[in-house]
Amino acid sequence: MKKWQCRVCGYIHAGSEPPAKCPVCSADASEFYEMGPEGDELASMVAGKPSAPAPAKSPLAQAYEALTDHIYKNHLHPITVHFPNGVLPAAVIFVGLAIFFNHRGLQEAAYYNLIFVVLTMPVVLFSGYVAWHKRYKGAMTQNFAIKIGCAAICTVAAVVAVVWRYSDPTIMDAGAPDRWLFLLVNVVMLATAGLAGHLGGKMVFDNRL
Ligand SMILES: [Zn+2]
Repeated sequence: MKKWQCRVCGYIHAGSEPPAKCPVCSADASEFYEMGPEGDELASMVAGKPSAPAPAKSPLAQAYEALTDHIYKNHLHPITVHFPNGVLPAAVIFVGLAIFFNHRGLQEAAYYNLIFVVLTMPVVLFSGYVAWHKRYKGAMTQNFAIKIGCAAICTVAAVVAVVWRYSDPTIMDAGAPDRWLFLLVNVVMLATAGLAGHLGGKMVFDNRL
């Protein structure tokens, strides 16, 4: 039985042909290598292939490289993504309850939770970008396109919700005409965060032998 490995995510497939699409990262068949009997391609693919000597880098580029290496090696993305993801569902539940029960305290709770989400998003997005480049060489498979799209929509929805509530403190009041639209923006934020997390978890956990 031949073995094939996905160049993007390292997934190993056994069979006479590579799969049409990687079940983990959705890369197509052309991204699969046939593995040697020792599985030697595995190590070279995961660690990155040896490349030609790189040209000398400026001190700033070296500092950026050192910083992003630390971010990747210390798993900052899965760590930081839990900050807003822990608070996002609470914010959306508070928005829904505040609207249903016309409750001022819940409106405030929702608003401050949303502010926290917006404040943590830059570090989540940057650490995600770093992990994508370091681990997956920035490969733009369908999975990554969806993940990046979700991250963008989630961030925009969170910013819209905060700015909207800031400029209209009555948006969650019982009589506010746009309160359901405001809730919808929050639900979209939660749904896109959930989908991005699902795809990230799939790539990490479905790839363990
Ligand atoms: Zn793959």
